[in-house]
Amino acid sequence: MKIPFNKPHMTGKELWYISQAHAAGHLAGDGEFTRRCSEWLEMRTGSKKALLTHSCTAGLEMAALLSQVGPGDEVIMPSFTFVSTANAFVLRGAKPVFVDVRRDTLNIDETLIRDAITPKTKAIVPVHYAGVGCEMDEIMAIAREHDLLVVEDAAQALMSTYRRRPLGTIGHLGALSFHETKNVISGEGGALLINDHAFTPRAEIVREKGTNRSQFFRGQVDKYTWVDVGSSFLPGELIAAFLWAQMEEAGQITARRLALWNRYHEAFASAEAAGKLRRPIVPAHCEHNAHMYYLLLPNLAARTAFIEQMRSADIHCVFHYVPLHSSPAGLAHGRADGPLPVTDDVSDRLVRLPLWLGLEQHQHGVIETILRALN
Ligand SMILES: *Cc1c(COP(=O)(O)O)cnc(C)c1O
Repeated sequence: MKIPFNKPHMTGKELWYISQAHAAGHLAGDGEFTRRCSEWLEMRTGSKKALLTHSCTAGLEMAALLSQVGPGDEVIMPSFTFVSTANAFVLRGAKPVFVDVRRDTLNIDETLIRDAITPKTKAIVPVHYAGVGCEMDEIMAIAREHDLLVVEDAAQALMSTYRRRPLGTIGHLGALSFHETKNVISGEGGALLINDHAFTPRAEIVREKGTNRSQFFRGQVDKYTWVDVGSSFLPGELIAAFLWAQMEEAGQITARRLALWNRYHEAFASAEAAGKLRRPIVPAHCEHNAHMYYLLLPNLAARTAFIEQMRSADIHCVFHYVPLHSSPAGLAHGRADGPLPVTDDVSDRLVRLPLWLGLEQHQHGVIETILRALN
């Protein structure tokens, strides 16, 4: 039996809801299923407004448009993240300024943010790595002091909290992902959470190709016309129908992932005590969603050998990220605020383990193989 790194979980109701959308004959975006998903997100997170998008990338691009950054502006973010965090702002002509991450959570090191601020800084983009919250109280305090916008990249963080507040709802804007590698999925998919109502009217316009279509359908304006820049950021109803089946089970999905995560965590405690690896660290004030289980191995050679040994046992383990500050596009479009030793170090040593619903019956074997490889 080959153990893939990821296996998308289906709840069983996805095709039934898609057939309902089909029967209703409403296939474009913003139908009944989009309404249900958005209301669920607003209810579940407490965000003032949730807008479904076709990806988290799209949500971040909307956030960049709404933040009105442009050439000459700078946006502070970690280098240890997925490309979309930076791309969204580079597309507006702004420059990502990369800062290092904390050794414990691998989240942006909030103590380095102040030093990276210049008169050109417009926004901070914390990324909640592995669904574990960044130090949002400190980040929001810095943002208030310097009048900066905070856009949370909460792609991995649906159902996670920081001091009891859902991630994605603490900054001005937050972006979620429903990509098939995340916990709650629709293949491709995402949402923008708007936590400051001042952004809502323009967000609706930007998402609908720069038109006032949403206001028109609510009867608030009598003409449907082009009023601002925008693009098509919304998903079709078939995707929303699929997503609705997942949202209905988001609680169970998270609980089952946490059980898998905890089993890994216990299994590797003694290897950590023996100095063979480091396990993930989740601060007590952060409730996580078991998006990811990773190990930090001693060095790059150890990681390469580990992944190869796993591969020969038919267990697929992967690593990420190539730090953005040292990637070709990161060098061309961004700048690192000084050296980023933690980012450089962990990106060489981190390995992600398979974590998907259905792994339960194979997890014992996976753990045994990993423990053998570590010895
Ligand atoms: C997955 C991910 C994204 C992109 O999400 P898509 O829905 O695939 O666009 C962005 N940022 C982070 C941190 C991610 O993990």
